[in-house]
Amino acid sequence: MKASSQPAAGLDVVIVGAGFGGLYAIHKFRQQGLKVRAFEAGDGVGGTWYWNRYPGARCDVESMEYSYSFSNELQQEWKWSEKYAQQSEILRYANHVADRFELRDAIQFSTRVVSAAFDSASSLWTIRTDQGDTVSARFFVVAGGCLSLPRMPDFPGRDSFQGKLYHTGTWPHEGVDFTRMRVGVIGTGSSGIQVIPRIAEQAKQLTVFQRTANFSLPAWNTPMPAEYEAWFKAYYPARREKARYSSAGIANHPTPDKGALEVSDELRAKVYEAGWAHGGPGFTRIYKDILSNEKANETMAEFVRNKIRQKVKDPAVAAMLTPTDHAIGTKRICVDTDYYETYNRDNVKLVNVREHPIEAITPKGIRTTEKEHELDAIVFATGYDAVTGAILNIDIRVDGGPSLAEKWAHGPKTYLGLMTAGYPNMFMVTGPGSPSVLTNMITSIEQHIEWIADCLRYLGQKGIRRMEAQPDFEEAWVRHVNEVADTTLFPRANSWYTGANIPGKPRVFLPYVGGHGVYRMKCADVAFKGYEGFTLQA
Ligand code: FAD
Ligand code: NAP
Repeated sequence: MKASSQPAAGLDVVIVGAGFGGLYAIHKFRQQGLKVRAFEAGDGVGGTWYWNRYPGARCDVESMEYSYSFSNELQQEWKWSEKYAQQSEILRYANHVADRFELRDAIQFSTRVVSAAFDSASSLWTIRTDQGDTVSARFFVVAGGCLSLPRMPDFPGRDSFQGKLYHTGTWPHEGVDFTRMRVGVIGTGSSGIQVIPRIAEQAKQLTVFQRTANFSLPAWNTPMPAEYEAWFKAYYPARREKARYSSAGIANHPTPDKGALEVSDELRAKVYEAGWAHGGPGFTRIYKDILSNEKANETMAEFVRNKIRQKVKDPAVAAMLTPTDHAIGTKRICVDTDYYETYNRDNVKLVNVREHPIEAITPKGIRTTEKEHELDAIVFATGYDAVTGAILNIDIRVDGGPSLAEKWAHGPKTYLGLMTAGYPNMFMVTGPGSPSVLTNMITSIEQHIEWIADCLRYLGQKGIRRMEAQPDFEEAWVRHVNEVADTTLFPRANSWYTGANIPGKPRVFLPYVGGHGVYRMKCADVAFKGYEGFTLQA
């Protein structure tokens, strides 16, 4: 839609983003009779799955779970073709949802929100875009994504490269043909680990520039087994309910009652083998103390290290690929298809850029402190300004006061990851301080949108014009988020969970590690108590 096709006046909610968060927000709020408009920087829906079209991109939470639960008809009728759907299928699903629930007319595409200003006198947000739109609304909902602001390290000479540069998070829609090319991939996080095997199949020569070896688990992806799908669908409502009260928002994850050190070495080895044979990210949940007890973690880490040593033929390459600097699961666990096996190919070379850092991009390729690697194309799989990036990319102010970026200069502060004190009537979907990226994101997105929708209904019923998080409740929540994180091994790793991937970003553990189910109960409790910790003004 164009800005002029819907009157700017009288809007209830402006939404940023048309990924799974924004799409559900439009649907849910409209169901309550609210007037909404969404702005999306891309020219289509799907968010992550619109932008990340790199070869190998797919979800690593099983598709039967990585999908909306809000419509039983939708979940019964939609058919996933693989256990872990690939990007194009997930994008098709997002488009299907947009059509099925008639959401497109609420979205203005190819439009980036650049600022949002709240005026206390009118209790209205005024939102401005890069296309010159100015609209006002009572509420501002940021569903701009936790992993949507790609990060390109600022290597000297980047613009001098005479070949092609790509980032996994802004992949060309028409695809890329790497046949006969010498390709370099920088980064071995989840994106790198997915793209590397696929590029290796095509390119003449692939050079992987690895700074930190990561733990990756096998997906054992298959076409969707018909009986499995039928079983899942027969029990869908119960499976979804289980997910809603689980730790990671995933029904299929194990719910262990034992720690890794409470069982014999023999039993533990068998359990790890069975978990490995099952594959997927639930592996790190096999014992309850893997993410909190160093020794327990080490038993699992060593099991996976041995698997890497078995898979990779060249012992020197295997050693480089074996993670030793962080506990397994404390950087986002990766799930792969043929990742380690790829290094047995003759056309794949691994370069250790911890030992020999990248000095510059040159017209011909990448120069490390050791040598220059000549390349025809470079793929940056270098990640995102995660969790806070998309929020702080918007200049957000109240009554001309300090920007949210200024308020968060030493790290984000929120109450429940939903609102931030001093910025009334603004909600964040999967914001910092909520479980978000530690969970099946669609479970977390649905929980947030439903909480916000209930809240908006309540405010309407009570005639409340202004809602704001109270600073003391915010402080207490931030403290709680940190205290819970400190009972785990997570904060010890240099990961994007702590902002460590962005030079100068404050080091704060960004998501809430207390578990999705626990968090859901806390949010429900706050609402039940008449939105405890929020100031409500008529
Ligand atoms: P997004 O999908 O990121 O959508 C946000 C949208 O907002 C984007 O389209 C963006 O263009 C738009 N936007 C941002 N800022 C602005 C602005 N200022 N103005 C206008 N538009 C704006 N999670 C899982 O749970 N399981 C997985 O298997 C999984 N796989 C992933 C694979 C990849 C490659 C990546 C990058 C992430 C993955 N994630 C996964 C996380 C994924 O981001 C979420 O699952 C989910 O798609 C997030 O939906 P969202 O709507 O919150 O955000
Ligand atoms: P990432 O996990 O942040 O990985 C970025 C990689 O780039 C890391 O290996 C990092 O090394 C490297 N890097 C960054 N700057 C570098 C530099 N200056 N020099 C050398 N190497 C550098 O990003 P991502 O792989 O895009 O994944 C982000 C998140 O998106 C994931 O954690 C996951 O949540 C989601 N995702 C999921 C899937 C999926 O399987 N479904 C796929 C892709 C993404 P260091 O580790 O040393 O910093």
